[in-house]
Amino acid sequence: MIKPIVKDTFFLSQSSVEASKADLYLAEDLQDTLEANKEHCVGMAANMIGVKKRVIIVNMGIANLVMFNPVMIGKSLPFETEESCLSLTGSRKTLRYQKIDLSFFDKHWQKQTLTLTGFPAQICQHELDHLEGIII
Ligand SMILES: [Zn+2]
Repeated sequence: MIKPIVKDTFFLSQSSVEASKADLYLAEDLQDTLEANKEHCVGMAANMIGVKKRVIIVNMGIANLVMFNPVMIGKSLPFETEESCLSLTGSRKTLRYQKIDLSFFDKHWQKQTLTLTGFPAQICQHELDHLEGIII
């Protein structure tokens, strides 16, 4: 289901709690909401649709990937960049890494590890920040 985008910075600045199997339905809501906003949005965290659980979606180019309880287990090649956010106006400077390693649970609740580079890696770091209540 397409959900409204939360723009309340007080809500967005709170950190999210661990997701469980009961939160698997969020994969579809995130997919539908990202699809509805794809003109100006490449990723989303669950708190942006009002649910403070550790779930994100990242546009990987050909498809979107939903990750439950994602954890960055490695990072390298820092660079400075500027980002904007669907929940905020304008863009802000931030430090990102070209290459990151992640572990997460997929939409079948299987544990996965993944290495991302380039733009998908950057999107993912932005969404991971959302889980900590960090808004760029
Ligand atoms: Zn954002």
